[in-house]
Amino acid sequence: MEAFEHMPRQKPIERKQIMILCEDLSHKNEIVQYILLKPKADVRSRLLCRKCIEGKFNQQTNEICLISEVLDDPYKVLKYSNYQGNVNQILNDFLHSYDFSFDVDAIRYKIEEIRQRFLYHLDELEKKLIEKYEQYQGTKAQVDNLKAKFESYFDITKLEESLTQAGMQFGKLTTKDKQKLRKGVNDYVAQIHRLNQDQADQEVYKTQFNVIDQNKRNLAEKESQLRLQKEKLDQGCEKIIKELQNMEQTYSTLNFRQSELSTTYMDEFMARVNHNFKQRNNFMDKIKRIYQSKYDGLNPLKVHEKIISLGQWNTQTLLFLFQTSSQQVFGVYVSSNSSEIFHQNKKQEFVIKRGVDPLTLNYSNNQADVLLTFGKGDIIIKSSFNGCLSDLGEGFQDKPEYNIGNLKRYLANQDYFDIVEMEIFQILK
Ligand SMILES: [Zn+2]
Repeated sequence: MEAFEHMPRQKPIERKQIMILCEDLSHKNEIVQYILLKPKADVRSRLLCRKCIEGKFNQQTNEICLISEVLDDPYKVLKYSNYQGNVNQILNDFLHSYDFSFDVDAIRYKIEEIRQRFLYHLDELEKKLIEKYEQYQGTKAQVDNLKAKFESYFDITKLEESLTQAGMQFGKLTTKDKQKLRKGVNDYVAQIHRLNQDQADQEVYKTQFNVIDQNKRNLAEKESQLRLQKEKLDQGCEKIIKELQNMEQTYSTLNFRQSELSTTYMDEFMARVNHNFKQRNNFMDKIKRIYQSKYDGLNPLKVHEKIISLGQWNTQTLLFLFQTSSQQVFGVYVSSNSSEIFHQNKKQEFVIKRGVDPLTLNYSNNQADVLLTFGKGDIIIKSSFNGCLSDLGEGFQDKPEYNIGNLKRYLANQDYFDIVEMEIFQILK
């Protein structure tokens, strides 16, 4: 992509070049680049050139190391060695089990790359919007042109003159001045009305108005297009910023790391609803992931089976997390003690009402349209994961202090919502 042409590149590693010619007489002017590592080999054939490798040694590639690489990092020789079960191999395996390559420089480079991509696309967006606006401007010029044809009727030069002159005589207008002023204003009004009275010009005006009407329609269309584009721009930015915020939160020190949807809010929420999670290590020890759409797929049968396979699922403590296409993350903590619906973005919770079942598994061969129902339809997840709905406040208690206007739209900011990601966890005792 051309956006990266001016990007600061990572400094290339400077490789030490050793200038030694290959001893093989048929490899004239070839520079030695490799060392043969085989323990038992002719000492005269340990240093090899490119041609040596292509020719006689091409079967032994895993015991030939690149000199420049070893000079750069002596431990790299290990990856070419063929030692079996000795310290060299253990050392090699050990060193390779750690990856330090995503270091501060690499992070900075990665972020810079993202920044450049953002800027590139923003520039492109700007160009396109300006282009669209210029087309809109063209229509405006047409309207201005039409306005000019009526200029004589709306000319205010004489009116302004009369008013100004009278104004200068403030408090001491003579009768003559008053007459002059009245005549000026009267002439102005007559001038406007002439537009309607000039019978001869009526036909001409009519056609002109028709042209205006045509333009009006044109203009309105262009204007609504532009407004729509502006809205789209705002929505798009909102989404990008939300995603960046999510990422930011993900990289902060989360306790509940098994979930890819959760933010620090979930750490706090879990610690509040279950005392076990006041201890950090319990987030690893007492939470078991049983379903994650990212890896298991958005599959109703799979969701159903994973829950059923827990055995007496309705005595289990479960945690559900949903992400909608409208970028909202909410979920349900289902427990025989007390269940809660929570909204991660809005950081608000709704405790279950007395005597209400927190979860119903609807999915079966007979009733396949609905997958899960929480409370009394407080959240209904469809088997297609599309067109889901929420009747919050039915089985879970609304809190007046939240001042929620539309409870049905509260969770997803939509009447009907689509689930794009979903996670289920089992909370162990
Ligand atoms: Zn050679």
